[in-house]
Amino acid sequence: MPVMTGNDPISLFWFRRDLRLSDNCGLYHALNAGLPVMPLFIFDKNILDPLPAHDARVSFIYQTLRDLKSALRGRNTDLVVRYGFPDEVFGQLCRDYNIKAVYTNRDYEPYATSRDWRIFEILRKEGAVLHTFKDQVIFEKNEILTRNGRPFTVYTPYRKAWQSELQSGDFAPYPSENLSENYLRFRAPDLPKPSEIGFQPVTLDIPSPDPSDEILASYDLDRDYPARNGTTKLGVHLRFGTVCIRGLVRKALELSDTWLGELIWREFFMMILANFPDVVDRPFDQRYDNIAWRDDPGAFERWCEGMTGYPLIDAGMRELNETGYMHNRVRMVTAGFLAKHLLIDWRLGERYFAAKLLDYDLAANNGNWQWAAGCGCDAAPYFRIFNPHLQAEKFDPENRYIKKWVPEFGTASYPEPIVDHKAARERALAVYGDAMKKTG
Ligand code: FAD
Repeated sequence: MPVMTGNDPISLFWFRRDLRLSDNCGLYHALNAGLPVMPLFIFDKNILDPLPAHDARVSFIYQTLRDLKSALRGRNTDLVVRYGFPDEVFGQLCRDYNIKAVYTNRDYEPYATSRDWRIFEILRKEGAVLHTFKDQVIFEKNEILTRNGRPFTVYTPYRKAWQSELQSGDFAPYPSENLSENYLRFRAPDLPKPSEIGFQPVTLDIPSPDPSDEILASYDLDRDYPARNGTTKLGVHLRFGTVCIRGLVRKALELSDTWLGELIWREFFMMILANFPDVVDRPFDQRYDNIAWRDDPGAFERWCEGMTGYPLIDAGMRELNETGYMHNRVRMVTAGFLAKHLLIDWRLGERYFAAKLLDYDLAANNGNWQWAAGCGCDAAPYFRIFNPHLQAEKFDPENRYIKKWVPEFGTASYPEPIVDHKAARERALAVYGDAMKKTG
């Protein structure tokens, strides 16, 4: 049912990966543009329908929308929530309201960019304008380039250029929270029930979006040890924009250069995906197209279930399966193990992580998987093969992380190693080496 607004011209603010009212660039511009602003969120059938009913990320979005809605109602406005295909939703909204403009923040994933071009056209035909803004990143794909005007493909010089380009204006806040009087005053229906949009809520244990100063102050020392509370767990908030990257950069500049480096890795991979969208299905370094991956569904299943007989790998996979999170050091080791020890196509592992990670992000997941498999830009060289036992000795010396997730570790019921490390290493070197020879 349409909300009654008469035929007065309005604008829409379309929330996507920016589910917050404060320091939101597109929202700030919408609220400053002169027309009353109607906030909108679309449960996009193209994204939602392929997901399983109990997907925790949908629960996260749903809870966040509930909070957004009640915060907006407290400002005498509301959030319109639709479930459908965005093209159809916008067609209907244009018939129901006198929409002059739609404001939104840019999303750089391939599906999102093609969807936004279609919406741009639909709106144009209806006499409305789509205004898009940079909000998710500090620098977009063409803002940090080499001297020759090309995208960087190696992280360290990218980071250097990123930091030398950084001006205070790049991370200054957009105080959208101070413009509440410019929303449209209206009341929208309540959120659709979870069953109406085809999902079942699950219980979530998500840390607050405020990174603790203590974690950042000792990030350098603690971040590689999975048993410590040494990283911020902000991934899911960054994914859905419940925290603002500009605020995090201000904090990083104050407290941790190493952590700033991680935020720059995030932008590096976003920049790579936006400039080289083929990486979604293909190795960045196409010599690796020739690797003779093994077809071994049994081994893949043991990896997925955390039953490889390598305790650090198994702990990581079980943490992922149970919580939707895995520590970064362990992500690197488990991913490398699949691609190198088991010689299973990294794309299968990437898809498995994509289905499970609460902080799943196409650019970061793809970039890091390619890095771990050796085929990405600036990747670990193929002959660098982690020894999972040494990694465990170094980063989980008392087996605290391992014992937490693999309670039968050290008993007779724990499985034998699925492969011998030395033999698997030699096999990987031979197969990767062959692929290199084929391409010269
Ligand atoms: P912190 O250490 O506190 O870092 C803060 C933020 O910086 C992170 O939340 C993330 O947004 C960003 N960040 C940190 N490290 C990286 C990195 N290497 N690459 C890109 N961004 C980074 N990160 C994701 O956000 N989504 C993914 O789907 C994802 N898949 C990964 C798959 C593999 C195989 C590997 C090795 C890493 C992956 N990462 C991914 C990167 C990293 O593991 C997570 O960002 C990090 O573990 C999240 O924990 P945190 O929020 O406590 O991070």
